[in-house]
Amino acid sequence: MLPQLPEQADPRRLCEQGKRFEGRVALNKLTRLAPLLTSSEGEAAFQLAFDQDEQGRLRIRGHVVADLQLRCQRCMESMRLPVDMAFVLSPVSGMREAEMLPEPYDPLLLEERLLHPMDLVEDELILAIPPAPRHAATECAVDLEQYRGAPEAVESAQRENPFAALKQLKRDH
Ligand SMILES: [Zn+2]
Repeated sequence: MLPQLPEQADPRRLCEQGKRFEGRVALNKLTRLAPLLTSSEGEAAFQLAFDQDEQGRLRIRGHVVADLQLRCQRCMESMRLPVDMAFVLSPVSGMREAEMLPEPYDPLLLEERLLHPMDLVEDELILAIPPAPRHAATECAVDLEQYRGAPEAVESAQRENPFAALKQLKRDH
């Protein structure tokens, strides 16, 4: 059995030690991700492998799998986003070092010596969320034909929603 992911760790040291972790985390424990979801029930499964590549470069390979519940920006109903992401990071201490990283590395900018390894999992889930998540056309509550015909109208209607609610409030008084 693999060891439990530590609360805090020095990622450089984990790489030198060749540590590997895998486990599951409740989505409601991920406090930056949870507010972006319509429901934070469920879990994410993760694997993190810290080591060094052939050039001796520090390497963190990760894999995250989860089902996220998001708000569809077309019909405003809940939608499921299956996430299955693999990533490769290398710890760097500045932008210059970050720019020198070859493919397929993404920089992990370290401002402090220690980090919360679970942040790597949470960051990846947050990155997986598109800027305007939408149902597939056939699953969306908004009639796409109508939407295509008048995208401006639908979008402006959504923008006006807060004001519509305000009007409703005023009427109630
Ligand atoms: Zn929708």
